Amino acid sequence: MAFIAERKQLLPEKWSPFIYALSIGVYCTAWTFYGSIGRATVFGPDFLSIYVGPILLMPLCWGFYRKIIKISKVQKITSIADFISSRYGKNISVGALVAFVCIIGVIPYISLQIKAIADSFGLLSAASTIVEHASIVQSWKPLLVTLVLGFFIILFGTSKMDASEKHAGLVNAIAFESIVKLLAFIIGGLFVGFFILNKFSAEQIQNAPQLQHLFVFNTDGGYMQWIGMTLLSFTAFIFLPRQFQLGVIENKDDKHLKTAIWVFPSYLILINLLVIPVAIGGILFYNNQPYNPDYALLSLPQSMGANWISLIVFLGGFSAATGMIIVETIALSTMLSNNIIIPTILSNEKLKSSFFSHVLKSIKWIRRASILILLSLSYVYYEYISGKYSLVSIGLISFTAVAQFAPSVLFGIYWKRASKLASIISISIGISIWFFTLIVPTLISANLISTSIISEGLFGIHWLKPAHLFGADIADPITHAFFWSMLLNTLSFVSVSLFFEPNADESTQAELFVDIDQYSNTYEQSFIRSGNVSILDLRKLMSSFIGENKSRQLFRQYFLRNQLEIPDDLTKADQGVITYTEKILSGVIGAASSRIILQSMMKDEVIRMNDVVDLLRESQQILQLNKELNSKSSELGKAYEALSKANTKLKQIDQLKDEFLYTVTHELRTPLTSVRAFTEIMHDHPDMDEQKRQEFLKVMVYELERLSKLITQVLDLEKLESGKHSLQLNATKPIDLLNRVVAAFNTGVETEEFELSIANVVEKEVHLDEDLMERVLVNLLANAKKYIPKDAGKIHVHLNTVDSMFSIAIEDNGPGIPVEQRSQVFNKFYQVVQSKKNNAGGSGLGLSICKKIIDLHKGNISVEQSDLGGAKFIIQIPMK
Ligand code: ADP
Repeated sequence: MAFIAERKQLLPEKWSPFIYALSIGVYCTAWTFYGSIGRATVFGPDFLSIYVGPILLMPLCWGFYRKIIKISKVQKITSIADFISSRYGKNISVGALVAFVCIIGVIPYISLQIKAIADSFGLLSAASTIVEHASIVQSWKPLLVTLVLGFFIILFGTSKMDASEKHAGLVNAIAFESIVKLLAFIIGGLFVGFFILNKFSAEQIQNAPQLQHLFVFNTDGGYMQWIGMTLLSFTAFIFLPRQFQLGVIENKDDKHLKTAIWVFPSYLILINLLVIPVAIGGILFYNNQPYNPDYALLSLPQSMGANWISLIVFLGGFSAATGMIIVETIALSTMLSNNIIIPTILSNEKLKSSFFSHVLKSIKWIRRASILILLSLSYVYYEYISGKYSLVSIGLISFTAVAQFAPSVLFGIYWKRASKLASIISISIGISIWFFTLIVPTLISANLISTSIISEGLFGIHWLKPAHLFGADIADPITHAFFWSMLLNTLSFVSVSLFFEPNADESTQAELFVDIDQYSNTYEQSFIRSGNVSILDLRKLMSSFIGENKSRQLFRQYFLRNQLEIPDDLTKADQGVITYTEKILSGVIGAASSRIILQSMMKDEVIRMNDVVDLLRESQQILQLNKELNSKSSELGKAYEALSKANTKLKQIDQLKDEFLYTVTHELRTPLTSVRAFTEIMHDHPDMDEQKRQEFLKVMVYELERLSKLITQVLDLEKLESGKHSLQLNATKPIDLLNRVVAAFNTGVETEEFELSIANVVEKEVHLDEDLMERVLVNLLANAKKYIPKDAGKIHVHLNTVDSMFSIAIEDNGPGIPVEQRSQVFNKFYQVVQSKKNNAGGSGLGLSICKKIIDLHKGNISVEQSDLGGAKFIIQIPMK
């Protein structure tokens, strides 16, 4: 499975958050699979405490976890040791210390998995179902299993040179194993439920005296134990090398965390659901016969003859154990090679030169050797020590060891002042307490040291007893060790940090870690040192680690991405390129080693701390400046847009003005020309007969009237448009207004014979400018009168109020206004084409003046087809 997944994607991309979440399920090892039942059998629901941490804190602290992931991506981190050493100035000692703690802390845990495989295999193949601890296992079998695993790990764990690269195959295989172990556990658990528990009534189970402790939480250790276990399991969840490998290094996208924070806790709940029922089944079934409760899930089906169920359970346990061994070994071997072996080689001139002559091969072999060393150590530990302990106790000892990284990481990513020395001292203190309180007792019971330490304390000092440090009385040894180691670890960390200033390298890295969000895109510009090397030198160096082609390609990428020209090979490398090279090498051999290599290559003068911090600040300031410039220029852009809009508007208005002037003068010329023509004729013919003269004078008067009307209208319009006109609003009854206007028309009604009717008299008062409204009505009625047929003319006026609107409609039975011209009749000088002949003397200004007046009243005027056949003008005005 790993083999195929390494080469092509097995599942669609949208599944990858789930694969990620399931792969973190590597948290559940053989300890969960078998050990939980054992612990539940003895201590009741206590076994749950190590799941509460991840279940509760994963959703609560995912921001913290995400920051670790982000930093690791940017810094190309390869392991937890690399992470901590990178934070503290890429320091070799820090890296080596962390790697060392991981190795001594976690090897017992690996051996525990070997033990589980061996035990379960022994049980499966044993004729008798009741077994004593590991006694029947033939010793070559676990050795064989270890060797096969070693082979697998070498095959998949060392195929890629870049340790910070993702191992898709590995992740898929582990996610798959997570599913296998969950299903196997559920199948085994259901079997116990149906075939054993079913035989007993609920009351029998509730009242059986030997089961009572299974239903109550053990509060002997007080809440302190629960709180301690929750914190312990959470720190372990983050810092155990295998968790760091799958949760941080193999994380493809930090958004996957969003899925993981609910999938992973659900997984933990599911896999623990049936633990208590199986424990009950074991106690009831074996009923006082001796049996190993750790393996109840395996032995129960076997005892009932359901061998194939046992086989499934075995496969589940096997998955759990191998998954853990594989990932843990890969993670530890990366640390062993990158943080311990390679730095040692590099510090020795002779070894260094032979290393450099075959870098690629050397690294591969160092990794392989590391894997074998670690597996052998685990095997030896299994053979000689872990056989004597239960699964759970060994696991918790490992948890406590890796918890010692918590202060260095936590302070490291939130506090710039946190220093290298603090990290070294605090981890050393923590791990010493761990060793003294948890490991020394195991050595005593293995008869390696005298028992007097337990009873009388180290060197006879009574407050140095491993189980009662400083005279404390904490019942549970793990809580005891966790409490004291964390307390002193944290205290020493904070005080040393406050006491010793960080140096240049540390401050640089502190900036990069704490303010990761500012640097996440620009880390390549974070200048660290200067030196005298050419691009070619750097590329050669890189080639020896990752091959000629790939390094060429990476260099090209670098220049393209930064939009730089690809420089000549002999150009002096700038700091950006140097940092880039360092980062790439980090991915292969870890930050600390890659730093030594580059440093030795450049033999540069060390920059003082202030310079570096200044440089960083400067780059930050430049970023800030850039931001400000950007926002300024976008403001300018907006202003420019507004200006150009205003400009086009002005141009439009200007054009309108031109058109207006043109039309006005044009309109004025027509009557003027005719008046002038008539005047000239009369002047040239003083003897004109009286009748003709009268005719001429009549036309002239008419034209002059039209002229003055036109001028008045233009002036009115100008006044209305300029906004100089203020409305004289009075509360008026519209009907009174209308009556006044109609009275002026009454003469027409009689003489020219048309019908004028007024409907829906509105008695309410409306606020109107009476003079202006009168003009509107006169205009509309005059227009209507102009177009109605001479003999059967009809004009109807309706007054109405709807909601808060007052409306007047004036309709007639004239020719009406064609649909396509209705929107234009309110424009200045617009005259309807077909009605021009009826409209002699019209100027096309009347309706536009009406519209202006109605606009001033915040109302609306429109025209539509009337039921009478002509035009219907509708005015609407809000009443308030
Ligand atoms: P004018 O002063 O030339 O009448 P208006 O602005 O009052 O100008 O009218 C604009 C156009 O609408 C004119 O061409 C006019 O013929 C036409 N019009 C106005 N009222 C009516 C109506 N009741 N029936 C038909 N056409 C009309």
